Amino acid sequence: MLLTISTTHSPATDLGYLLGKHPDRFQTFELSFGRSQVFYPEATTDCCTAALLLEVDPVKLVRGQGTSLSQYVNDRPYVASSFLSVAIAKVFRSALSGQCKDQPKLATLTMPLCAKLAVLPCRGGVDFLERLFEPLGYTVTATPHVLDEHFPEWGDSAYFSVELEAITTVQALLSHLYVLIPVLDEDKHYWVGEDEVEKLLRHGEGWLNDHPEKAQITQRYLKRQKSLSQSALAQLGGEETAELAAAELAIEKPISLNQVRHETIVATLKKYQAKRSIDLGCGEGKLVALLAKDNFFEQIGGMDVSYRSIEYARARLDRIFLSAAQQQRIQLFQGSLTYRDRRLADYDAATLVEVIEHLDESRLAALARVVFEFARPKLVLITTPNSEYNIKFENLPTGKFRHHDHRFEWTRLEFQTWAADICQRFNYTVSFTDIGSVDPDVGAPTQMAIFEESNK
Ligand code: SAH
Repeated sequence: MLLTISTTHSPATDLGYLLGKHPDRFQTFELSFGRSQVFYPEATTDCCTAALLLEVDPVKLVRGQGTSLSQYVNDRPYVASSFLSVAIAKVFRSALSGQCKDQPKLATLTMPLCAKLAVLPCRGGVDFLERLFEPLGYTVTATPHVLDEHFPEWGDSAYFSVELEAITTVQALLSHLYVLIPVLDEDKHYWVGEDEVEKLLRHGEGWLNDHPEKAQITQRYLKRQKSLSQSALAQLGGEETAELAAAELAIEKPISLNQVRHETIVATLKKYQAKRSIDLGCGEGKLVALLAKDNFFEQIGGMDVSYRSIEYARARLDRIFLSAAQQQRIQLFQGSLTYRDRRLADYDAATLVEVIEHLDESRLAALARVVFEFARPKLVLITTPNSEYNIKFENLPTGKFRHHDHRFEWTRLEFQTWAADICQRFNYTVSFTDIGSVDPDVGAPTQMAIFEESNK
């Protein structure tokens, strides 16, 4: 991954002093996860560009971490992420802390600067990218990369080439990049603990407190760990902000609503005597763990397309005490709901809790065949957001989805129409249940369809 920083300040070669790297030299720095190099593609008095090239070593990345496919097949070596932040902190340490040894006066000088990031993942889209950088005075230019140039109809990916231009100090630019790159990527390659709060406050000094997206930045930087972001926000701006953050932390108050969903699912499975049940798109295995603790269930499956989720689910099950016999009942595996899979047969019920809205609508026909034609359990429970309820979430802007990965959110009529079509095609009957508190006008936050195989 490549970051370049250019200036047209006069003399532009002052950039060398500011970054503490001589424009004539090519320097290499070893890092625990790879290697970074600093060089200057151009260094004249009119224009000077410093380049930071970071090569993440995929072998170092997986060393000592067990094995999973996602450790081998991932975007990490190619995109700007928390690895780049660590490289910035190591390679440009004094510049990031606002020091300039040879020319101390330069450190506080504002100048025209342009940073270019070859590939930046922007979870939340260009809109979010702009909301992060524009309040800091940057002009943002983002060019999307297509998902696959052989299949233009698939559309754009979440990756962009990004240019950020502003008149600012080198230290401010580096600290903005250091904090906001992982915020955009929404991932960190290391464990996030208390010391990350300190890093955020240190590198956010002078700009984060007044940033309109302060709450989002803090939550994403701290990987949505509620107690950490509350602590950071309280330190940034007093009690009031901490409360605001708590309110914003979750549009849906995920703990309570998610819990209600899972409890409703368990109760419904029991009502229908479904002793063998598989959770499709099981995520981090919360529902699987709930079923595992309940001896009513004789066979419990969990499948997800994400290896990482399956690993989380496995770790979750390891943490709860289960006898060997209880463990024997559980099968956790990676797989996709859009491909026929023999492992999905032999269950009385299948559950899809907040899953369908994560698939492109064009893939739902394949999902329907996999579940209702091939796996064909007697009972299928599907939950999905009721989009009519979205106006009740004060923190959700109009027209936005509840989660950035949602491909659609349906009204009650849209869901019912889809379900009716399934019944007709695959010979099932369906009824609907509200989950969460019901509003007389817009219904409940979550809608659940109960499909039963029909004998007719
Ligand atoms: N059911 C969980 C997680 C919901 S999030 C819960 O109630 O908390 C949606 C999940 O669907 C994610 O874990 C995602 O990885 C999974 N998913 C998305 N597309 C999928 C597919 N094609 N096959 C299987 N799982 C998929």
